[in-house]
Amino acid sequence: MTDEKVVTWADTTLKITPETKCGFCAGARCCNYITQSIDAPRSKDDFDHLLWQLAHRNVQAYKDKDGWFLLVLSTCTRLLPDGRCGIYETRPQLCRDYSNDYCEYDSPAEEGFDLFFDGYDSLLAYCRKRFKNWDKRFNDE
Ligand code: SF4
Ligand code: SF4
Repeated sequence: MTDEKVVTWADTTLKITPETKCGFCAGARCCNYITQSIDAPRSKDDFDHLLWQLAHRNVQAYKDKDGWFLLVLSTCTRLLPDGRCGIYETRPQLCRDYSNDYCEYDSPAEEGFDLFFDGYDSLLAYCRKRFKNWDKRFNDE
């Protein structure tokens, strides 16, 4: 996320420090998605709605200690090809607040998830386990 000097793996003389760390992070992992908090789904209707959302390309969902979130895999249009931020001085507050102390470079975000659905199929499998007769939910219409 930083606009500090970009370093490459080829330069083995550089140590990973808070200032150089982002330069080691191929493709700036934290600049390649957005998240959006959502109400915790509870009913069949809620999960059916979430299924519709995850039927769309690059839309995923997870639950962690802070609740449920949509995860949309999409690269920030301000990310420069070399991994630097193209609007570093005026980048949004969320980007300013994001610390690289311990971030996705150190461990994948999924490790902190209680539940993770990488798309329609994994959520459908969860719905079938969670609700009896999930596949018959439209029968009374
Ligand atoms: S994931 Fe971490 S190391 Fe990679 S660009 Fe973001 S803050 Fe920097
Ligand atoms: S504005 Fe800059 S720091 Fe924020 S996500 Fe985009 S490229 Fe990354």
